[in-house]
Amino acid sequence: MGISRRELFKAAAAGAVIGSVAKFNFTFAKVSETIKLPKPKRGAPRVVIVGGGWSGSTLAKYIKKLKPDVDVVLIEKREHFWSCPVSNLWLVGLVDLEFLLHDHRPAAEKYGYHLLRATAYHIDRVGRYVYTDLGKIHYDFLVLATGIDYDYSQWVGDDPKDVEIAKTKYPAAFVPGGEQITLKKKIENFEEGNFVITVPPGLDYRCLPGPYERATLIAWYFKQNEIPGKVILIDPHPQPPVKAEGFHKAWEEYVKDYLEYYPNATIKGVDFGKKVVSTEEYGDIDFTDLNLYPRCKATKLIFDADLVPKGDRWPSLRWPYNISTKDSHILCTGDARNHPFSKSGNTANTEAHKVAKQIIELIKGRMPDYEAPRTLCYSAVDKGKAVWVDLTYKYDPKKNTFQFWNVKMDNHPTHQNWRAYIEWARAMYRDMFS
Ligand SMILES: Cc1cc2nc3c(=O)[nH]c(=O)nc-3n(C[C@H](O)[C@H](O)[C@H](O)COP(=O)(O)OP(=O)(O)OC[C@H]3O[C@@H](n4cnc5c(N)ncnc54)[C@H](O)[C@@H]3O)c2cc1C
Repeated sequence: MGISRRELFKAAAAGAVIGSVAKFNFTFAKVSETIKLPKPKRGAPRVVIVGGGWSGSTLAKYIKKLKPDVDVVLIEKREHFWSCPVSNLWLVGLVDLEFLLHDHRPAAEKYGYHLLRATAYHIDRVGRYVYTDLGKIHYDFLVLATGIDYDYSQWVGDDPKDVEIAKTKYPAAFVPGGEQITLKKKIENFEEGNFVITVPPGLDYRCLPGPYERATLIAWYFKQNEIPGKVILIDPHPQPPVKAEGFHKAWEEYVKDYLEYYPNATIKGVDFGKKVVSTEEYGDIDFTDLNLYPRCKATKLIFDADLVPKGDRWPSLRWPYNISTKDSHILCTGDARNHPFSKSGNTANTEAHKVAKQIIELIKGRMPDYEAPRTLCYSAVDKGKAVWVDLTYKYDPKKNTFQFWNVKMDNHPTHQNWRAYIEWARAMYRDMFS
């Protein structure tokens, strides 16, 4: 997959791979577009970013901060930024919603990027336009930071009726917004029985420790409120892929009798009528309520732009970079990338810092240096206690592979780690929005 940096640079110089970067004619903002934005300086290149989540919000700010004369447009369909990190704590009442919600406007104004509240629904790669419900807009570079979508085909099948039931009645709640409100109500209204949570197979789902943190905190909530129910966590992995020791400790010490863990499970399917999850190893598991988290995939916009190879779920990118192998003017960042990184907010944020620099180099017609992002990730395992993992990635250009690098972990649930978790989130929000 992909080509080496040297090859990429050679090809760029020959005009073959990023040809128009090397001899670039920048688009003037006034050229045939229907979205009227204030005109940038003559000759200013335009970077359009779709998705104002952890990746896009960081990127918009830092491109402008590093190079104010680049015209940056951030297209985000939601009115608010809603943080998924820390949302498991909000689900069980340990933080307020205000902690999760943020506004792009102050940063847009301070750093001078355009904020377009719109949904992007089509990309014309030949003309280099993004079509939105407010009109079309021209780009010189396009960043697709659209997060994830769910792939129900494995457990639910393709019948639209079943997919709709899965999405509306048993939402995964691993994207920001309404799904998480539905899940919170389910937890608060749960009276008794089995609250089943599934973990997707593989390591390319959003937030590796997320389902384990959620299961632990919901079990904690049932215990606190003396609800005669238990959480059943069905996991295709032999153990949590990260912080396993910390989670096991918490299950043993804090939520025993309120959480049952079924590792190495092969889920065959879900029957919504009978309310069972069928597994090969444990047979049929009844659920009173279900938090069905299936495999993840790139969003429709990325599939429709023909950036995903047939049979794959993620866009093909020129490793180590985020540049599409199909289109040198398009980058996919954050959880939309196909790199084997933990799909986390911290990864998306630190990657965006580096991609901002890379885009500025690309605009100048130069191939950027590559620096890998960092994954620092906390998980709450009890009220006021948390564990964490901190690592980066090392790229091997010969094998064109990445490996985890400099891994550190603290599996002891402590108050200090909890405070660090909350402070980490505050620092991230500041980095994106102030
Ligand atoms: C419950 C939970 C707990 C988590 N805990 C942690 C944690 O503790 N630490 C951590 O680091 N990470 C955590 N994560 C992971 C983290 O939330 C994601 O990795 C991060 O949000 C990825 O950022 P992103 O910008 O790629 O995607 P997102 O943040 O999802 O942003 C994508 C944005 O694109 C917008 N969008 C999509 N399509 C379009 C379109 N067509 N037009 C316009 N806008 C569009 C969406 O509205 C969204 O705002 C957690 C996730 C969950 C769900």
